[in-house]
Amino acid sequence: MEEFLILRMIKMKKNSKKGIEFVFDLFEATRHQKFRQVILPKELVSYASRLYALYEQNPALVVPEGELIPEIKPSSQDAVFSFSGGKDSLAAFLLHKDKFEPNIICTYIQGVSPKYPEEFSRAKQIATTLDIKLSVLKLEVDNKTWLPESVIKNQLIYAMILDNRQTLPKAIGFGGTKAVGPQSMAFYHDSPSAFELFHSFAQVGWGQHELLEFVEDEIESYRIIDAKRPDLFNLLTSCMCAADEKSVIRKNIQGKFRVILENEYDCGQCYKCAEKAMISKKFFHRTYSEEYIRFCEEVLIDKVNSPYHMNGIPKDYLAKLDIKIR
Ligand SMILES: [Zn+2]
Repeated sequence: MEEFLILRMIKMKKNSKKGIEFVFDLFEATRHQKFRQVILPKELVSYASRLYALYEQNPALVVPEGELIPEIKPSSQDAVFSFSGGKDSLAAFLLHKDKFEPNIICTYIQGVSPKYPEEFSRAKQIATTLDIKLSVLKLEVDNKTWLPESVIKNQLIYAMILDNRQTLPKAIGFGGTKAVGPQSMAFYHDSPSAFELFHSFAQVGWGQHELLEFVEDEIESYRIIDAKRPDLFNLLTSCMCAADEKSVIRKNIQGKFRVILENEYDCGQCYKCAEKAMISKKFFHRTYSEEYIRFCEEVLIDKVNSPYHMNGIPKDYLAKLDIKIR
């Protein structure tokens, strides 16, 4: 099943708009982290003000003069999961699906990750293994075939899913974690509290629905998957390495550290692959050479000291993986 949503930038002078139009304005105003003034309805102001404050922007850029025109749709029993094929969205799906079966819709948003073309094929492979239908929402923004970077990308996806459905879902679920780890990042817009604030806006814009609870942390995501569907473990990756460079990097890492990387999607070198190896070793009895473990520890320790304050790993998260900062 494939659905298409084409978004085009339309400059509208009026201040009374539907939810998706305001969210798209906010998306435009925060693209590439170059914040611009944006007129929003009162329901979105607290979300946007916190976002602007976090990125050290002048809160006066948020102008609360907009009027939201709610878009009321017939309600349904559906639970919609944003399904990227990554571990957190898979864990959220496995955690909540029993409550809603058979009224489940898993939606892959095509156009979010142009640098990782294999993500879509992996999401399809996981969906096939789980015997679920994957609904595809294809985004085209500003005549490009991918979704450009913006600090509200996740909330735009949330709004697009609601906007694009014929009926109002009973619940909506996203991959994400309550605690900040290396993969969930410390970005506010990725955090459960950002989704909760946006949820209160979405309830007014589209109607009452439940925002499904996030998993505790990345370790918990892997635990849920390992407990419920261990056969999917080797399809999962959060690797940040570009597809065309991966095979060379993998070969180098495997040779240098005498290690076999079971999962063909892992480069073995980036901090996400390093974290996965450390979690797999501590919690799932995977074995790696000592040299490789030392390498992974160094990769993660470097990340604690990341100069970019919002992108570091908290020290207590490393302690959970038995990594001591020397
Ligand atoms: Zn990697």
